[in-house]
Amino acid sequence: MALIVTGTIGIDTVVTPTSSAEKILGGSATYFSVAASFFGKVRLVAAVGGDFPPSFAKFLKGYKAIDTRGLEVRPNSKTFAWGGKYREDMNSRDTLFTELGVLAEAPPVVPGTFADSKFVFLANTHPGVQAQLLSSFPKRTLAVADTMDLWINTARKELEALLRQIDGLVLNYDEAELFTGKKNPVTAARHILNDFGGAKGSKKGLKFVVVKKGEHGSLIIHHDGIAALPAYPAEKVVDPTGAGDTFAGGLMGYLASKGARTPTKLDTLRKAAAMGTVMASFNIEAFSLDRLKTLKKAEIAKRSKQFAKMINV
Ligand code: AMP
Repeated sequence: MALIVTGTIGIDTVVTPTSSAEKILGGSATYFSVAASFFGKVRLVAAVGGDFPPSFAKFLKGYKAIDTRGLEVRPNSKTFAWGGKYREDMNSRDTLFTELGVLAEAPPVVPGTFADSKFVFLANTHPGVQAQLLSSFPKRTLAVADTMDLWINTARKELEALLRQIDGLVLNYDEAELFTGKKNPVTAARHILNDFGGAKGSKKGLKFVVVKKGEHGSLIIHHDGIAALPAYPAEKVVDPTGAGDTFAGGLMGYLASKGARTPTKLDTLRKAAAMGTVMASFNIEAFSLDRLKTLKKAEIAKRSKQFAKMINV
């Protein structure tokens, strides 16, 4: 089933307590599309500038399952660039810089052939842009978005308008707190569902909120109840950047591969989030997309089995 992602493609600089990497490939849509490509075809819509290294473009175009016809190169613009520094616990980070570049310009153009997309993931970018892109997919059956502190702080109104039009929201626990003022992630997610959710069983309004808690796993707050998943107990954590987008790629890739319709059942979402958890656990083993680059489907299947065994109660 046609899955599409719109978001950022970035040039990242990442500093961890023990290492660092400069000018590496990153971006919300990048991590998402590579993770989702393990489950089926994914259409990518994003813009980059003239400074985008050809090797990065070649890398993305090298994936048969990623349709890059929506990758727009603007020769006179600059690619989005982001820098982040992880704290000692590797679970929290501070943003060093955000250079919007193409993000401050018009949204990327959606190729006409992508208009029939059914599964839509609006990866992190300005919520006004997310909303505009969402309207390009009139045949969508499931629309999920991600957001982050920058947009909660600077584009709250647009974010609220977006939440009224989508089915699911994925965000970090600290972002849920920032958005609602509620410290408890369950309370915060319930507030979001109360404020932006439709009636139970209705096709309109937010139906679920996924709160990511880094190494503490994730929660799915849904009309029918709550699901809680631990993180995969990883021994090797080199760079957590993109874990959230890789999680979302696994989650949406799984849902699209199953043709899951909205309103999506809590049990289906739990299975999808388990897949997202497994994908994220691989991504954090190396900088940039270096681990996803070498990942094999058999490794995903093996770790999924291990994870299912671990959480079997
Ligand atoms: P994550 O670790 O899952 O939150 O994703 C980090 C990725 O998102 C990095 O590769 C960045 O290039 C990208 N990123 C950072 N800040 C933003 C932002 N404000 N909007 C969109 N993408 C961002």
